[in-house]
Amino acid sequence: MGEALDLLSEHGSEAMIMAGGTDLLIEKPSGIGCLVDISSLPLDYIENDETGLRIGALTTLEGIRNHGLLNGPLKVLAEAARNFGHKNVRNLATVGGNLCSSVPSADLAPPFIVLDAEVKISCPDGVRTVAMDEFFVDVRKNILRDTELLTEIRVPHQPPRTGTAFAKIGRTSVDIALVNAAVRVTLGDDGTFSEVRIALGSVAPTPLRVVETESLLIGKDLDAVLIDEAAEAATGEIRPISDVRSSAGYRREAGKVLVKRCITIALERASEG
Ligand SMILES: Cc1cc2nc3c(=O)[nH]c(=O)nc-3n(C[C@H](O)[C@H](O)[C@H](O)COP(=O)(O)OP(=O)(O)OC[C@H]3O[C@@H](n4cnc5c(N)ncnc54)[C@H](O)[C@@H]3O)c2cc1C
Repeated sequence: MGEALDLLSEHGSEAMIMAGGTDLLIEKPSGIGCLVDISSLPLDYIENDETGLRIGALTTLEGIRNHGLLNGPLKVLAEAARNFGHKNVRNLATVGGNLCSSVPSADLAPPFIVLDAEVKISCPDGVRTVAMDEFFVDVRKNILRDTELLTEIRVPHQPPRTGTAFAKIGRTSVDIALVNAAVRVTLGDDGTFSEVRIALGSVAPTPLRVVETESLLIGKDLDAVLIDEAAEAATGEIRPISDVRSSAGYRREAGKVLVKRCITIALERASEG
């Protein structure tokens, strides 16, 4: 790790980190003087400790797809991995690379946002930790400096009676998302929504948490009309664009459908838990 950080400090903005290379080698950004290949660092792990789950940045998508610790509310991560590319891509693509590519469609971003995850970042003078929903800045931009490396994602233990869900619409089931969404709901003792997180991808310059929509649900009884209202409200918070993959109007409608679907599934799972 020290050697990688030294190389980043030495080469500055000319250096680029390479993990699985499934984004970088296709993008081939210009102006790069050297690649810092981190693929052999010991950052491929999924472990539990007293604070929650720790996922190393080099864990592959195939690695999280069927991992035994990703159950209960954490199954939203496995669900996203099961809807992600083909096996040959998943064998190379890493969790850290997916987040650091910072494209609006990154499939792991909404699940980590709704789980209140944090990223651990190694810098020349130590380590810093940043909330997942503060990591993304703009299309392909995040808060990492040239000299920094994302090393781990930390997911806190989830409260009892919590359910989650992920859903995605793509051109085919393994294509990148036209829209994706993840939801986490926690039910209180009185059966109302006590905590809600809703995040969508491909509907704004960054993966987006729709906080006003979440607040519509807090403290309310569960009912189908309320879920419809929340899904409609989410369309007012997103800022989709039209591009080669989809029109803005389609993304808006699809976002509404996915939010409704994810709230409904997450609720069922929370009620079972
Ligand atoms: C055919 C195909 C299908 C795909 N399908 C999907 C899909 O369904 N869903 C989806 O979300 N994506 C998909 N992708 C995109 C890509 O596979 C993912 O984003 C993948 O997770 C990137 O990880 P990587 O390890 O290959 O990253 P790399 O290509 O190695 O790196 C990507 C970026 O992140 C930076 N980086 C990597 N690791 C770190 C780190 N630890 N610290 C700091 N910076 C870092 C690199 O410098 C680079 O800018 C697909 C790509 C292909 C080619």
